[in-house]
Amino acid sequence: MALIVNLRLLSQETLFLQGDLSPAELDFGLQDAMFQITQPVAYDLEVAMVEDALLVRGQLQATLDCECVRCLQRFTQLLNLAELTIHLPLTGDEAVTMDNDNVDLTPFLREDMILEFPQHPLCKPECAGLKKTSEKQAPAAGEKPELKVSAWAELNKLKL
Ligand SMILES: [Zn+2]
Repeated sequence: MALIVNLRLLSQETLFLQGDLSPAELDFGLQDAMFQITQPVAYDLEVAMVEDALLVRGQLQATLDCECVRCLQRFTQLLNLAELTIHLPLTGDEAVTMDNDNVDLTPFLREDMILEFPQHPLCKPECAGLKKTSEKQAPAAGEKPELKVSAWAELNKLKL
């Protein structure tokens, strides 16, 4: 279900909305992106009517399935919009589309999320990228075993 608010209801009280939006509803168009959103996007919003506008405030949280642009490793990244504020005029040229007394908030949430999307997802900020075998700088002695240990430690943590 899309996230729709009713203006008649809003004229009487502030609405507090919590739930999930499916990626299909948000329809991000990520076919060519370096990440995908396959899990529901959680919202926790307060919607109020202020004069001739809707004021939407709150939080959105999504899990991005990313592919590192440098090393192509897959990883997940949490996208958290903690202080979302959307101001939607109800009158004038910029007025939001209304269907009877209903306003669909979904497209506005989508827009705000897209602005926060990573342009170049990195598994970690210092990611060195793909290791080239013909590279001149050989890893310093002692570096390799250390990496192995940490990789196994990570696997153990996953308890597969
Ligand atoms: Zn990487």
